[in-house]
Amino acid sequence: MVSMEDEAYQKYIKAGEIAKEVMQRALEKVKPGVKLLDLANFVEGEIEKLGGKPAFPVNISLNEVAAHYSPTAWDTRTFAEGDLVKLDIGVHVDGYIADIAKSIVVGGEESELIRASEDALRRAIEMIEPGVKTNEIGAVVEETIRGYGFKPVENLTGHMLSRYSLHGGVTVPNVKTRHGDALREGDVFAIEPFATSGAGRVVDENEAIIFRYLKDRPLRLKESRLILAYAKEHFGALPFAERWVAHLAPKHRLHMALRELAYSGAIYAYKILREKQRAPVAQAEHTVIVTAEGCEVTTL
Ligand code: MN
Ligand code: MN
Repeated sequence: MVSMEDEAYQKYIKAGEIAKEVMQRALEKVKPGVKLLDLANFVEGEIEKLGGKPAFPVNISLNEVAAHYSPTAWDTRTFAEGDLVKLDIGVHVDGYIADIAKSIVVGGEESELIRASEDALRRAIEMIEPGVKTNEIGAVVEETIRGYGFKPVENLTGHMLSRYSLHGGVTVPNVKTRHGDALREGDVFAIEPFATSGAGRVVDENEAIIFRYLKDRPLRLKESRLILAYAKEHFGALPFAERWVAHLAPKHRLHMALRELAYSGAIYAYKILREKQRAPVAQAEHTVIVTAEGCEVTTL
């Protein structure tokens, strides 16, 4: 809950401005042959330069991968002509978060799939005001995407934001659901429709590259203890990339430690999410503050 006179409000606005600026600069760099790792380092560097901090590792998810891919420290992958890239950037200023995502086809024009996700986001934002229910937004998102002949991804949602927290409890579905929560003035939400030509569901891959500190646990490996202490101190409850702790251990020990940490429940592992039928997925996302008259889009 935030009101316009608050310092918190100003920080949400600043985070949004940084996020939108970094997004613009990043999109210009998405070209065939460019390394995903170089783009990730660029994005996170620009966030810091502009006075913010990454609220989560930049997600650079390609084609059928919907979310949770962030380059590893040893990533050699490059963008190829025709790749459908989802760039998802999170910025925080003193814990106040902006969450923005755009989709782009490498070396190509905007596709219908991207247009469907963008249009769904625009219509969702247009209807936001106090009292509107999250399931009403989901219905409009679903209807818009289906109008293009695609499906929304039913098991990915938008979410409330609060200080140092990416998931403030309430979610915003991308499909029509039976129950919903009414939006209240001062609430902050990330709205993020995903559109696909596939089944409309994502499934977990086995691999995780993004993690989040959960709790202190007894650990066998000294590298596990080191990584956990470092993550707790530097990232708190916000997600971190394997890349961000890669300096703490050699590659093989790092992977062993992250496995032990996830297995023991010390950290949460965000599995890479891909579309069930391996169909391409487009995503569009903005962060909004619900106001008396409607909403303020911090990332627009
Ligand atoms: Mn996002
Ligand atoms: Mn989000």
